[in-house]
Amino acid sequence: MIEVLNPANGTLVGEAPAMSRSEVNDAIERTCAAFPAWSGKLAKERSDLLRRWFERIRDNKAAFAELMVKENGKCLAEAYGEIEYGLGFIEWYAEEAKRVYGDTIPSHAAHSAVTVVKEPVGPTAAITPWNFPFMMITRKIATALAAGCTMIIKPAEETPLTAYKLLETAREVGIPEGVFEMVTGDPKGIGELFTGDSRIRKLSFTGSTAVGRLLASACGQTLTKMTLELGGNAPFIVFDDADIEAAIEGAVGAKLRNSGQVCISPNRFYVHTSIHDRFVEKLAERVSRIEVSEGMRDDFVVGPMINQAGFDKVASLVEDARQRDAHIILGGQQHAQGGLFYEPTIITELDDEAEMAQTEIFGPVFPVYRFQTEAEVIERANATEYGLVTYYYTQELGRSFRLSRALEAGMVILNTGSVGTASVPFGGVKQSGYGREGSFYGIEEYVDIKYVLMSGLDR
Ligand code: ADP
Repeated sequence: MIEVLNPANGTLVGEAPAMSRSEVNDAIERTCAAFPAWSGKLAKERSDLLRRWFERIRDNKAAFAELMVKENGKCLAEAYGEIEYGLGFIEWYAEEAKRVYGDTIPSHAAHSAVTVVKEPVGPTAAITPWNFPFMMITRKIATALAAGCTMIIKPAEETPLTAYKLLETAREVGIPEGVFEMVTGDPKGIGELFTGDSRIRKLSFTGSTAVGRLLASACGQTLTKMTLELGGNAPFIVFDDADIEAAIEGAVGAKLRNSGQVCISPNRFYVHTSIHDRFVEKLAERVSRIEVSEGMRDDFVVGPMINQAGFDKVASLVEDARQRDAHIILGGQQHAQGGLFYEPTIITELDDEAEMAQTEIFGPVFPVYRFQTEAEVIERANATEYGLVTYYYTQELGRSFRLSRALEAGMVILNTGSVGTASVPFGGVKQSGYGREGSFYGIEEYVDIKYVLMSGLDR
């Protein structure tokens, strides 16, 4: 069995099965066997099942939220927020299932017709991370099922209980075996079984760039289609004409969500040198009022790091900054309550060679850098292998537009720290991966395009 521990206090929350290879293979068999019947259903039938699943979860939010607090460490308010976000995908794709339209193209030849139809790619697989144990799953499975694909999911070892609860509610409303399967156990072994089986026509992965590369190499052998949502190194740029209060709110909301353990978490704050000191002072005042605590309470609190490795990474990045004589304005160490809790930390006077300038921090740390000119900050923002999201704050129209084009990211976000919802395409460029989730673009990842030419129609 896999033991699931509460990161806030180390107690046992529950267990999930560590499945053998043959159990995983059986689940893959069921995923493949279920495909013909599922893809053959009317879109309306698939839509109705998704809608019923949406309603079932909506009526059971509290049970999900409490489980998520225990196995992930995020606070209750955030767990409810994630449920809303994740439910949004089931609702959206229940609707979208009925709109997987094709095209007709004016024919190039006499007495013939050209149509283009979209067909589900086949049985699919997904591997998900622990930071959004609910939403990461609904966003993938709802899209796959809407398109007519079946899906087998391996959730993260840290948070399999929320995943199995999602499976349980799906079964309760009649989403059949095979259509939605779940396996847990050795990640590497399961990954190899997914990627080595040429019947699995698509793999959707969210996680680290290192594992993404491994899986992409393996998928190269079977030419399996992929969606990859990988690491980020998000810049958060504040110009001298920005609304500073709004920028502080955006910074705090985006950075402290999930205690900073989010791929779109701002990783580098670039603040114009003329407002730098004022920004830092206000930020410190705001962040110092936020509590750090276990999450089973109603107000927003910063929770623990997910595990010791996550904690150690944050501590070592801050240590590197300290060695470089950066200024630690706030925090900079383990929180007084010990364990996996790290203090919200603000660091200034860092150079671009600091480890945390190039590494995804995944913790509640705000590194604030100074900049002078627009051209300079664009260059520094883009000077990373990642390209998931960039946030920027300015009131100037021309600059807003210029940056939206110049920033190398799948998502550029002006004057807010809030990014995701079901109706928009989420995803990155460069080493942050490829493919999009959410919106009408998301479903394109699960369909093949078939060109149909009918000729000789005069006879
Ligand atoms: P994180 O640092 O966020 O845990 P990972 O990329 O290690 O990022 O994990 C994301 C998901 O990838 C998890 O479900 C994990 O179990 C899975 N995973 C980790 N290593 C492998 C691997 N070698 N093959 C397949 N999946 C893996």
